[in-house]
Amino acid sequence: MKLVPEIAALVPEMKSWRHRIHAHPETAFEEIATSAFVADKLRSFGLEVHTGLAKTGVVGVLRAGSGGDAIGLRADLDALPIQEKTGVTHASRNAGKMHACGHDGHTTMLLGAASALERTKRFDGTVYFIFQPAEENEGGGRVMVEEGLFDRFPMRAVYGMHNWPKMPVGTIAAKAGPLMGAYDIFEIVVTGKGAHAAMAYQGKDPMLFAAHAINALQTIVARNLHPLDAGVVSVTQVHGGDTWNVIPQEVVLRGTVRTFKREVQDLIEQRMRTIVAGIAAMFEMSATVRYERRYPATINSEEEARHALAAASAVVGAANVDTDPMPEMGSEDFAFMLAAKPGCYIWLGAGRGPETPGLHNPYYDFNDDALAIGASYWVTLAEQQLAAGLRRAA
Ligand SMILES: [Zn+2]
Ligand SMILES: [Zn+2]
Repeated sequence: MKLVPEIAALVPEMKSWRHRIHAHPETAFEEIATSAFVADKLRSFGLEVHTGLAKTGVVGVLRAGSGGDAIGLRADLDALPIQEKTGVTHASRNAGKMHACGHDGHTTMLLGAASALERTKRFDGTVYFIFQPAEENEGGGRVMVEEGLFDRFPMRAVYGMHNWPKMPVGTIAAKAGPLMGAYDIFEIVVTGKGAHAAMAYQGKDPMLFAAHAINALQTIVARNLHPLDAGVVSVTQVHGGDTWNVIPQEVVLRGTVRTFKREVQDLIEQRMRTIVAGIAAMFEMSATVRYERRYPATINSEEEARHALAAASAVVGAANVDTDPMPEMGSEDFAFMLAAKPGCYIWLGAGRGPETPGLHNPYYDFNDDALAIGASYWVTLAEQQLAAGLRRAA
């Protein structure tokens, strides 16, 4: 392990920032206090600070030397609507809200990196420290891109990270290509004809539609997808009926689709529409499908993945870097930044062993042992990527 010395010295302070943010979680686009805390800290380090992008987003700007090269490092600010059960002293003071995805740790590591890089300035160019709101569900990363993040702050590449409790602390994983899936949602509303349940022949039973549709939708992955392409179709909600003896008029099915490729996404949506229309026709009912593409897949570019892995190896050692991790179908709105710019998203090991609670679990708490590693990775990556001018000067 090769921690950046200025980061190692900052660990007690980073822990206190992390615990403070953890105790005061705020959810999507309401990260007012968290955003103010970040902006104050960046200003106190001496950075130029821009606020208000995507409402609560913050961008810190740090320049060194005379080079025109620039990269962006991104963290997320938001918490989740979960009631915390950890019982730790820094547990959430905001009822029903919790930093259960470790964005408190992400924010802290990027603050630590900003503080260290401002003091050492062992780089030539510009580092943009991007703190985005609303990573969970609401696409704050998309809003930042739409509001001109990359026009206002031109950068060659953008980098992101997420703590990963399934991997032991002291390890890092990433690779070129897709690392996390695209996130789509769907809602199917089928309208039959309500009737007395004992006189079902007088109605058209939408429950029957639901039973057939849930089964048939699974055939898309099983029978329409190439066996080496990835896709998940999950029906997660069934709403219909209120009592024992009534066939309802309407049933609503909702769920999610996860994919890595646009062609697979198109195929699943098209097959879903065909299957729903077919079953509805078979039972003489009408059905509608609302299909919404929320987040694209998180796809790392070749060159930037190499850069990220080089920085990771410099910090945790090549033996502790997994360069071919199995991708996950969970989603990440850093995908919107990667769709606009080359870059790389890594997983930072944060596990304490097999019993470590997973992300979004009410017993989860970011592992403070990962703080110095993640922040050292940021500093190392920035120094390696913006070293050209220093080499020329030497
Ligand atoms: Zn999350
Ligand atoms: Zn997260």
